[in-house]
Amino acid sequence: MNAPRHFTTQLAVIGSGIAGFAASIFALNRKIATAQVGNTGAVAYTTGYLDLIGKRDGVADVVTDPWQALASLRETEPTHPLSRVAADDIQRAFAEFTAFLGECGLAYSAPGAVNISALTPVGTLKQTLCVPATMAAGPHALAANAACVIVDFRGLKGFSGVEVVANLRQRWPRLTTQRISFPGMERGEVYPEVMARALEVPAIREKLAEALNGVAGSTSIIGLPAMLGMHRPDHVRAELERLTGREIFEIPTMPPSVPGIRLRELFQQVLPQKGVTLVPQQKVTSLSFGDDGATLALSDNFGPIRVHAQAVILATGRFLSGGLEAHPTGIREHLLDLPVTQPAARADWYRARYTDPRGHPIHRAGIEVDDSFRPLTSEGRRYHDRLFAAGVILAHQDWIRGRSGAGIAIATAFKAVTEAERFLSGR
Ligand SMILES: Cc1cc2nc3c(=O)[nH]c(=O)nc-3n(C[C@H](O)[C@H](O)[C@H](O)COP(=O)(O)OP(=O)(O)OC[C@H]3O[C@@H](n4cnc5c(N)ncnc54)[C@H](O)[C@@H]3O)c2cc1C
Repeated sequence: MNAPRHFTTQLAVIGSGIAGFAASIFALNRKIATAQVGNTGAVAYTTGYLDLIGKRDGVADVVTDPWQALASLRETEPTHPLSRVAADDIQRAFAEFTAFLGECGLAYSAPGAVNISALTPVGTLKQTLCVPATMAAGPHALAANAACVIVDFRGLKGFSGVEVVANLRQRWPRLTTQRISFPGMERGEVYPEVMARALEVPAIREKLAEALNGVAGSTSIIGLPAMLGMHRPDHVRAELERLTGREIFEIPTMPPSVPGIRLRELFQQVLPQKGVTLVPQQKVTSLSFGDDGATLALSDNFGPIRVHAQAVILATGRFLSGGLEAHPTGIREHLLDLPVTQPAARADWYRARYTDPRGHPIHRAGIEVDDSFRPLTSEGRRYHDRLFAAGVILAHQDWIRGRSGAGIAIATAFKAVTEAERFLSGR
């Protein structure tokens, strides 16, 4: 048996989704010594868009002004996690998060006053607050009804130019499509992740530019599935624009998508360089609290690890990532067995009709926190002064229906780090 390796830190973050990574970034910017442990989770599935609020329950129209939607959410759903973070803080959180990504080489649009109508993999539109710079030209071209060609690839499943054009025909009549082979991958299936890594090589970019120019005709704007490089997408896009002499933008593909993998790989590469102790691809198996701190227990290929921290942020997500577990007898929080607010009985988890516009009660399940984002026991007391929580593990929100996944993650991580910093500094 190997003896456990010990790490001592001020803050431990459990979870490596957007909430966990955002918490580490905010902690890093505040010079809080941080260790983060996280198993693979939903981040690789995201489109890369950072949504704040894109849809309101019971309102037919999409949300164009998320800040106004936030104000009315505060009136109608005061327990929603976004209602419990000041709008100024949410704005600051998005600005700090996207600025960090930009400094690390993954440029994003800054949070604006209104939502952006962004393209989905099937050519529908969704409202989001920030988009990767590689995708920004798409919504502009759509708004201007500019002539544009969507180019897709032989052998690529889950992204069809014909489908995108068919779904956008009414709104974007000057949109057309062409299909080409990806250089060096002319036979069989092709995958966005493999194409993205191939495009890091200059010779492949030159061949792709030639093929694009062969089908684009007089059209000066080209839309491509998201695959413009894994580590330097802005550079790959700029190079393809130079080689083709045309404007180029990406559209997200079906999950797991390159923009999500980019985020995950960037965080895993950059955070340790900046001083975060990152233990990726591992699950914390127990978390205990004592008078002098908290202890996280886990193991990797080299044996057991113990992380001793003064404060902990729990950002373990919901069902997909394992933060919450659905059992025949009810929904459980898996690490500390924190009480989970949930429908009274299993029969109430789902409504009769899958497409019921009110959504399903199970999607609002989660843990309760106080105003300092500390989890609560069933008696309504803090579980521990050293414990904070962030992300979609929090109750009273249906982020899928509200198109608010990243927004809840980033805003609540900001709040949890602010409160953890207050605790650590003894204020
Ligand atoms: C298909 C799909 C598409 C999406 N598209 C968008 C989009 O377009 N825009 C948008 O804003 N958001 C989108 N999201 C939402 C977004 O990716 C996040 O799911 C959301 O922001 C919640 O983040 P989170 O960090 O709270 O939770 P998660 O992302 O679920 O992360 C939780 C993390 O905790 C880890 N974990 C769990 N238990 C443990 C443990 N015991 N020890 C260590 N780690 C643990 C998990 O492995 C995971 O890494 C999408 C999600 C999915 C699934």
